[in-house]
This record gives sequence, structure tokens and C-alpha cells, in this order.
Amino acid sequence: MINLPSALKKEEWEKIRASVLEINGILVTDSNGIIIWVNDTFTRITGYSPEEVIGKKTSLLKSGYHDLEFYKEIWDTINSGIVWSGVLINRRKDGTYYTELMSITPLKMEESNNVYFIAMKKDMKDIHGWEDSEKQQSTVLESVVPLMTELEEARSKTHAILEATNEAIILLSADDRMLWLNKAFGRFFSLITQDAIGDFFHNLNSHWERVFEDSTKMIQILNNAKENQLSEYREVVTQIWPQKRELEVYSAPVENASKNYLGQLFVFRDVTREREVERMKSEFVSLVSHEFRTPLTSMIGYTEIMLEGDAGDLTDEQTDFLKTILRNANNLAEIINSLLIVSRLEAGAIKLNTCKLEMNEIVNHAVELLRPQMDAKKLKLIVSVPTDLKAVEGDSRWINEVMLNLLSNACKYTPSDGTIRISAKEKDGFLYIKITDSGIGMSTYEQEKLFTKFYRAENPETIKAGGTGLGLWISRSLVEMHGGEILVTSLPRKGSTFTIKLPIKLD
Ligand code: ADP
Repeated sequence: MINLPSALKKEEWEKIRASVLEINGILVTDSNGIIIWVNDTFTRITGYSPEEVIGKKTSLLKSGYHDLEFYKEIWDTINSGIVWSGVLINRRKDGTYYTELMSITPLKMEESNNVYFIAMKKDMKDIHGWEDSEKQQSTVLESVVPLMTELEEARSKTHAILEATNEAIILLSADDRMLWLNKAFGRFFSLITQDAIGDFFHNLNSHWERVFEDSTKMIQILNNAKENQLSEYREVVTQIWPQKRELEVYSAPVENASKNYLGQLFVFRDVTREREVERMKSEFVSLVSHEFRTPLTSMIGYTEIMLEGDAGDLTDEQTDFLKTILRNANNLAEIINSLLIVSRLEAGAIKLNTCKLEMNEIVNHAVELLRPQMDAKKLKLIVSVPTDLKAVEGDSRWINEVMLNLLSNACKYTPSDGTIRISAKEKDGFLYIKITDSGIGMSTYEQEKLFTKFYRAENPETIKAGGTGLGLWISRSLVEMHGGEILVTSLPRKGSTFTIKLPIKLD
């Protein structure tokens, strides 16, 4: 409460108070930046009447000249109870721009703890001395306005594109404020987004509990991406309200022109149909493969019995025919086996049964199984795997599968009389198992496609060797499930090296 100065009469004092209010454009907002009061000078400066702005956000006056970082700094300052003052360019109702000197004072009400912000604005034109430099100001504005118009146009285009997409998009600042969101975001999650910009995202936490099957996971995904400013990130979450669907969340950091982190962009894409089709395809492949396996096993069994002579003597021609049947039936069985593993991997149906694995044993097992093929091609095998290697944690069935796949490829894609080397070493908490061959090798282009499902290089040697193009995809998926990776180096007609990198068990 300000006391009446003793030298003044009440009427004089009222005049002074009124003119103090007149000098500045005054705007009062609540803690969310919603305008609750403006004075006449505000209307004179901006062209907006009180009815046109009360209940709206201050962003209504934004000129588009300042970047998000600028406004973030204002919010950060006033939210920490400090007065912000500075010069900014705003836009009047008629679309013209003006430069203003502004100070925003946060005011906390003791009784209610409510916070209000009082913004005092002065049009620079009204400041003495500024007129002198008005020429300078208009030159600045003349050069800035076309730039702003251009920016505004670019922004409108981007805005229109982002609004037209079927994906829900939101930009969150590091301190959890909603910096931007599109209409689809509101549609997806049944939210009124009109005035949401600037509000804290966590104010919607109870809403998310209703929307997502596991809202804690969803909030964790968003926080994790923001805290670590993740460069790129994908995850699938299940929505249960207002509609059940599966959403892929994609996230990427957004920086301003000076490379400062502005916030994290999140894009929610409805992948329900896509996932359903994937599931149906996997189920179909898995069903057909199962149905094929039983008759094929009996065909292989009976062919073997006949080849052993248990069904009577065979002519040389009959033996040759039966051997061809057996070879092809075995190939078919291998394809079916690969398809089954792929569909199980895609359905997430493979659970690792881990134990300590001795790499020596895994290598020896694969060598033993492939010895006949290597001998048939007169391949030289050099194994140098130290016996005292640290154990890795893994599922022996699947690590055996990977080792067998890579060694079988080395064997398949190396011409007769070539050399295969298997070596292993430990480094920085990882075990590296290298399989090097002196075979046909691959171009850089081929190496890029190598781990794509069904990919096979298009050269006569590969085509002749036969295969499904699934082995490496399976191997990579299995190694990644173990927290490792497969590395490749190769030179055409010189040979290839495939390295399995697995984390060493710590204890
Ligand atoms: P497949 O061997 O059944 O065709 P893979 O997924 O194991 O399927 O391998 C995919 C492709 O990668 C092969 O078709 C071949 O072109 C290439 N490839 C794999 N291993 C080697 C290797 N050691 N040397 C040369 N090419 C290879």
C-alpha cells in the first residue's frame, strides 16, 4: 500500500497515479502467460482492445523475429522471480511491427501463493532521443521486415506441412515446456491444444495415465530422450484411450541456428495396421514352415534308409538320384529352419537362456560340423583361439547358430584350396572372434546390404553356392540380443573378415 505523499491533495495524487499508468503499456498475465488485464496505452501501442486479448496468450504479439531460445530466457528469468527487461520486436494487430522496451515483473501473492506477471511496455517511438535515431531504426526495420516476411512465409509453409501430417508432433523444451505441437497431437490424445504452448508437459501426467497402457514407461521414454538429448530414438508404446493403437515414438533433438539445444522433438506414428500385417505375415510363415517340416523330415529319413541299402540294393543311377533328393531336401529343411527362426525373432519369441560360454567349445563345435565341407573343397583351416579366454554370457544354442552361420559362409564363399582363419582376443571388456576367409569378398555396396533380409550378392559364385540370404540377418539379430555386434571388412576377390563382438561377463 502506497501512502499519499503529505504535500499532495488526494485528487492530485490520483492524477499522478493515472498518468503513471498511462505512460506505459501495461499487461498482466497469470502464471501460464494468459492475459488477464491490459490498460489503454497497451491498446494504443498494439491495436488490440482488452476484449481481444484477455484470456489469450502473450504469444499473440509475437513477431517471429526472436527465436525460441529468446523467449525461453525470458520465461526462465521471470519464473525464478527475477525482473526481465530488454528490447523486443512485436507485431501489432494490423500486422505492422514495432520495437518496444519492456520489463516484466513477477509478483507473488502472499495469501494465495498465486504468481502474476506485470509487463510494462514502451513503444520506442515514444522515448525521447529515439526519434533521433528513428532513421536508423527504420533502416534496420526496412532490412529486417522483408527478412521476417520471408521467415514468416517459410514458417507458414513448414507449419502447414506439419499440420497436414497424420503424425502427432510435439516439441518439448529441456525444462519440460510445450514449445510447439500440431493439431494431430490433440486429435491423437483427445486434448485441447489451442493454448497449450508454454505450459508444462508434466501438468498432463494424469491425462497420460488414461491414454497409455503404461504411462510411466511413456513418460520415462520422453524424459530419457530429453535428458540425454538423444540423437535419434524409436520405441513402440501402446495407447488405450480414446482408441486402442500402437504408436511408434520417434525423437530427435532440435537446435537453433547457433547450435544451442532448444528441445526435443517427438513424433507419434500410428503403426497399428503395420504391426498387425507384420504379425499376420510372421504367423503365416511360422505356420507354413511347421507344416512343411514334418513331411520333409520323413522324406529325408526314408531317403537315408534307402541310401543305406535297407530297402534293397540300388543301381548307381538310383543312388545318384537319391543323393540329389537328399541334398535338395536338406537345403529345403535349412530354408524352413531359417524362416522359423526369422519369424520367432520378429515376434520377439526368442528368449535367451544364458550361461557362461567357453568360446573354444563353440568354435570347435562349428569346425567339427563343417569339417566335411571344408575337406571337400580342400580348404586350409587355421584356428588360434587362446584357451584362457574369459567366458561370455550367452545362450549356447544361439551363439552356436551364429558361429555356424559365419563359418559356413566362409566355407561357401571361398573357392577350393583357400584358407579360413579363426582367431579370438579380448579388448576393453569385449571378446572378438574373427573368421577370415580368402574367398570371393564383397564390394562396399554389397557390404552395405549384407544384413538385409533375403539379400544375396549378384555374382555367379554366390548364386552357385545357394542360400537364403537370411543367415546374416539372423546372426546379427542374435548377437545384438546378446548386447554385441557383428563387424565386417572385405575386399572383392581378396576375402572377408566377419567379427563377432560380445560383452565379457564381469565377475
Ligand atoms: P546366404 O549365405 O544363405 O545367401 P547370408 O545371409 O548368410 O545368406 O549371406 C548373405 C549374402 O552375403 C550372401 O548371399 C553373400 O552374397 C554374402 N556373404 C556372406 N558371407 C560371405 C563371405 N564370407 N564372403 C563373401 N560373401 C559373403
